[in-house]
Amino acid sequence: MVASCNYESEKATRIYAAEERRCRGAEGRAPRLLSPSAPQQFRIMSRALVLLSGGVDSAAALAWTCQNYSEVVAITFQYHLRPFRERLAVYRLLQVFRAPLIEVPTNFLREVADLPEPLNTIVPEGYIPNRNMIFYSIACYYAETRACETIVGGHIGNDSEAFPDASKHFLHQLAQLANQALLTRKIKIELPLEKMTKAEVMKNAQAWGVPFESTWSCYWDGSHPCGKCISCIERAEGFAAIGIRDPLLSCP
Ligand SMILES: [Zn+2]
Repeated sequence: MVASCNYESEKATRIYAAEERRCRGAEGRAPRLLSPSAPQQFRIMSRALVLLSGGVDSAAALAWTCQNYSEVVAITFQYHLRPFRERLAVYRLLQVFRAPLIEVPTNFLREVADLPEPLNTIVPEGYIPNRNMIFYSIACYYAETRACETIVGGHIGNDSEAFPDASKHFLHQLAQLANQALLTRKIKIELPLEKMTKAEVMKNAQAWGVPFESTWSCYWDGSHPCGKCISCIERAEGFAAIGIRDPLLSCP
């Protein structure tokens, strides 16, 4: 997208650097106990690598992973003109759900709206060709080198309608292919939100302690979400469904 970079001012860059330092300081710490009064019972005693974009869905996936795995590592991809606020959201979420972060520079990846020569075919807003094949292939590399048995993605029920590479079928096949190449461990890809609607994701995210004010869903940058892109519209529908106001609409 031809995103406005005005928001990434000198002041914003300083904020970003401070958030990054705080996040880096969290490396190696155990995930936050969501209920400090009760001992956490992990469903699986193993390490998971969770893809984290900074949006509500991936934040819910992160929260779910911290509740179900004894060790959690987050991975995020810094593609061309990624909104500053989205990257900031990753750092802020990891201050709550403490986990080390792998940040992968993928500046060669551009949304089709940002290509020097536009495609002649209409594609969904935010489309990056072969995005999940690339993201999950890189995640497989880190899963093996960081001893993670599972990769967790925050794709929800209707994601695959617009993006076929977000479907369970596609990612299952990707894991099968990757496992032919990985020598020291077999990995699986888990999609805890794949049967949920946006409203169900929002409801669970609230129950799992996701700080909505620390997420960013908009395709664009700015002090507030644009309210017009498809991601903003879906987010608004989710908040309406659970009957609360999006804190980003009132935050300064
Ligand atoms: Zn938007």
